[in-house]
Amino acid sequence: MDTLIKRAAEDIAAAKLVTALTGAGISTESGIPPFRGKGGLWERFDPMEVAHIDAFMQDPTRVWEILLKEMKTIVEAARPNDSHTGLTKLENLGKLSTIITQNVDGLHQVAGSTDVIEFHGNFASHRCLDCQKQYASHEVQITQIPPRCDCNGILRPNAVFFGELIPPEALRRSQKIATDCDLMLVLGTSAEVQPAAMMPVIAKDTGATIIEINPQSTALTGTVSDYLIKGKAGEVMNRIIAELEQIL
Ligand code: NAD
Ligand code: ZN
Repeated sequence: MDTLIKRAAEDIAAAKLVTALTGAGISTESGIPPFRGKGGLWERFDPMEVAHIDAFMQDPTRVWEILLKEMKTIVEAARPNDSHTGLTKLENLGKLSTIITQNVDGLHQVAGSTDVIEFHGNFASHRCLDCQKQYASHEVQITQIPPRCDCNGILRPNAVFFGELIPPEALRRSQKIATDCDLMLVLGTSAEVQPAAMMPVIAKDTGATIIEINPQSTALTGTVSDYLIKGKAGEVMNRIIAELEQIL
């Protein structure tokens, strides 16, 4: 582990354009469960039954009741952890340009990162299925399920469900940054959800070094990633930053 931390710090120091791809794993230390893996939501639910747009459109009350209500409550209470603040420190050191996140919790922005591409939208705002009116999350009361608009239409979060398209601008910018970067950190993602999982592949194909930070190996390990630092993202980020501050 020590050798890999040192290697990562040296690789980051030498890189000209560093980017990061983050997933649900980095927010577990903030109390938000991931989808896959230990303690993940999929131990309790079938993703296609609760997180697919067809499931939501067929029975919004059920999806609000078993997934969205809990997600909204947990996300509103969550605070950034060392992995979010570590990435902000990296930006402040001039060593991170953009974060591509699959997370919908907004914690990178709360931690102070300034260029965050929300690949799967967010829970910070909701919109009406009928009139499209937008509401900030805190304006949405979940005492009544499903929550409703002034026009009585049903509200949904501005997050991307399975079966929906990635916001086109988020996809376009992510592909560009993946092509342009010469180092990509991949933290807390199982790299199983497409097309987000393609970003490290694009970066690798165009010559970037890929460093994974995850307690477990993933679909990228040993193929797309140059190396995996096995550990929790917060702890590993703290150690990389400490090492970097000595060599920059
Ligand atoms: P995932 O649930 O598929 O995988 C989580 C990964 O994080 C696993 O590989 C796991 O080993 C790793 N992990 C667990 N704890 C970790 C830690 N402390 N440090 C580093 N890694 C850790 O997550 P995904 O790849 O992001 O895909 C799931 C989809 O679910 C995403 O598209 C996202 O939109 C959505 N989601 C978001 C949140 C959130 O916003 N926090 C939470 C749940 C799901
Ligand atoms: Zn409405």
